[in-house]
Amino acid sequence: MIPFNDLAALHRPLMPQLMDACRRVIETGQFILGPELDGFEQDFAASCGCQHAVAVNSCTSALHVALLAAGIGPGDEVITTPLTFIATLAAIEAAGATIRLADVDAQSWTLDPAQVAAAITPRTRAIVPVHLHGRLADMDAILAIARRHGLMVIEDAAQAHGAALGGRQAGAWGDAGCFSFYPAKNLGACGEGGCVVTNDAGLAARVRSLRHWSQDRDQIHLERGFNYRMDALQAALLRVKLPHLAAWTQVRRHLADRYRARLGGSAAILPAPSMAHAHHVFAVRVPQRDAVRARLAPLVQTGIHYRLPAHLQPAYADLGFAAGDFPVSEDLARSFISLPLHPCMTEADVDTVCAALLSVLEDRSVAA
Ligand SMILES: *Cc1c(COP(=O)(O)O)cnc(C)c1O
Repeated sequence: MIPFNDLAALHRPLMPQLMDACRRVIETGQFILGPELDGFEQDFAASCGCQHAVAVNSCTSALHVALLAAGIGPGDEVITTPLTFIATLAAIEAAGATIRLADVDAQSWTLDPAQVAAAITPRTRAIVPVHLHGRLADMDAILAIARRHGLMVIEDAAQAHGAALGGRQAGAWGDAGCFSFYPAKNLGACGEGGCVVTNDAGLAARVRSLRHWSQDRDQIHLERGFNYRMDALQAALLRVKLPHLAAWTQVRRHLADRYRARLGGSAAILPAPSMAHAHHVFAVRVPQRDAVRARLAPLVQTGIHYRLPAHLQPAYADLGFAAGDFPVSEDLARSFISLPLHPCMTEADVDTVCAALLSVLEDRSVAA
């Protein structure tokens, strides 16, 4: 049985350093803010090629305060993709703004710039591109549209640690980039975590203030803020893991290439090749997805990212969208199946997954 992920194996060789990090924090008793958080922020900003990083308790919080710091609020419209984790939408609403959706491109599976342009109204203030599965969205085109219409761009880079194009990292393209350190992300904490990165000193200062109740040195609350701080423990643990991110991303790319080589020419539709992919998820499209997953289940653990596009989720029924509104996202969501891909997998594991998938796809009872 090939598991979808193996965090225990990832942490095993790092255990002495992770334990040292915990001991360091517990011995100092500095659990909230302090030097571990400052140190992680400096290290993470540098790894993203950004001047500022502000660590928070999740990517959902990161998106929320980044939007607020960008000046987004009630009456403003924010454009994003329906093919994302629900948190992207939740953060836009938490900021008080109105969700506008634009469909994705059928090849890249990320926001289609033409659809973004078509969704702009006089009230549009920001675009939130999502680097789905770790693939950088078409940032050149999205930034060009944003410049033309005076819009802010806040990247949802929750799945894209280590994705870069021409040396420019995910998170470093827009006005701000938001990351998740949910344990299974490409860089995961041992619990919850998130971060906002930016080159805008004013935006960074506002996020820093909002995450800590907008409280000044004299305990005066300058505006309504939040308890969105990252734990010092998580920061210390992430500082142990961050130096390995580049090597882990290399392994992900290597294994993705092997999937590509083994599955090319089969009934599975592969993700379009990209120079700017961190391969958080290796999703392929197959006919009769649920039947294929069920047949694989005894041999290979798989996932779906995501089964329903956000506009069809019951939670957002009141937004008034209907099936057919974003046909590309809907079509993709129907056929996606995520194969195991993580830094502790071997080439032999990939071969085992591919052999199992090819055998299921060749079986007429599940073929299209
Ligand atoms: C994981 C994820 C989030 C939410 O991150 P949390 O840290 O769990 O709040 C947001 N957007 C996308 C695309 C994600 O994958």
